[in-house]
Amino acid sequence: MICLGIESTAHTFGVGIADEKGNILSDEKDTYKSKEGWGIIPIESAEHHREVADSLIQKALAAASLEMKDIDLISFSQGPGLAPCLYAGLNKTMELSRNFSIPYIGVNHCVAHIEIGKIYAEQKDPVVVFTSGANTQIISFNNGRYRIFGETMDVGLGNALDKFGRSAGIGFPAGPKIEELGRSGKWIELPYVVKGMDLSFSGIVTEASKRLEKGCRLEDVCFSIQESMFSMVTEVTERAIAHLGKEEVMLTGGVAANRFLQEKLRIMSEERKARFSACPMKLAGDNGAMIAWTGILAHKSGYKSEKGKILPRWRADDMEISWMK
Ligand code: AMP
Ligand code: MG
Repeated sequence: MICLGIESTAHTFGVGIADEKGNILSDEKDTYKSKEGWGIIPIESAEHHREVADSLIQKALAAASLEMKDIDLISFSQGPGLAPCLYAGLNKTMELSRNFSIPYIGVNHCVAHIEIGKIYAEQKDPVVVFTSGANTQIISFNNGRYRIFGETMDVGLGNALDKFGRSAGIGFPAGPKIEELGRSGKWIELPYVVKGMDLSFSGIVTEASKRLEKGCRLEDVCFSIQESMFSMVTEVTERAIAHLGKEEVMLTGGVAANRFLQEKLRIMSEERKARFSACPMKLAGDNGAMIAWTGILAHKSGYKSEKGKILPRWRADDMEISWMK
């Protein structure tokens, strides 16, 4: 079985093709870029997705040496995400399905991040640290679902770093720049906010920006904002492993690129005798391949998605994981 997957939840339009062993036959993407200093403008991003869709589908087919008639299933990211962007993906999916008489299925974007990570970070049953621009969640499989054991109560970790980056004038996305600057920084006191298993980042961003205004070195603030936020994520992850008795920790999402975060999680995992690995970077950000692979898992296990509909607020734990029964 060969599946073509379409990702369109936020700024990335991705088209990936996967087979039923999880091999990725092709994976193409194009990302909407907002005006300097602005975040994603949903209708502009959706317009971008509509403009690039056909050429990316052709590119993905060509890279896999396939034609539409070779495709057995189309899957798309049904949510969570920005409604106009999700519609761009749904409409393209339904158009292809109609024109080529191929069945389609909707899958959960966060679940897809986990499933592609399990293959390519080589883990079976991990505690997943999923941290992207918009999301930060500690997730693990338990009793038929991917349960969310801890999460941010306000912004995602990536967006928090980007927000600080905007106030510091270091450009977008700020994550990589903050990592680089932080290497030569020293600790200054910043808040640390863990409530039970949940996290809050926005107060730390405000405080870090104030430190800069008061004349603290940018390098020190960059070091400390990471030290504080990543320690919070590590604390909650450690508690999840201990509580669930899991033996693997997997990091994914765009912030997985950060060496400093990887190192903290690795050390904690080793101390807990758990195996740590990060999803390879080209699959850690939003991509079509993860949607294609999850489409195959869902379809083969008899999962039925809602037709002709997007689910902008669909949580990972609201999807039935029929392939892990
Ligand atoms: P995603 O939403 O999964 O596409 O991830 C994008 C987010 O990852 C942005 O908020 C970036 O600032 C963040 N990011 C990318 N590279 C790094 C890095 N090296 N350190 C911290 N954050 C990063
Ligand atoms: Mg994502």
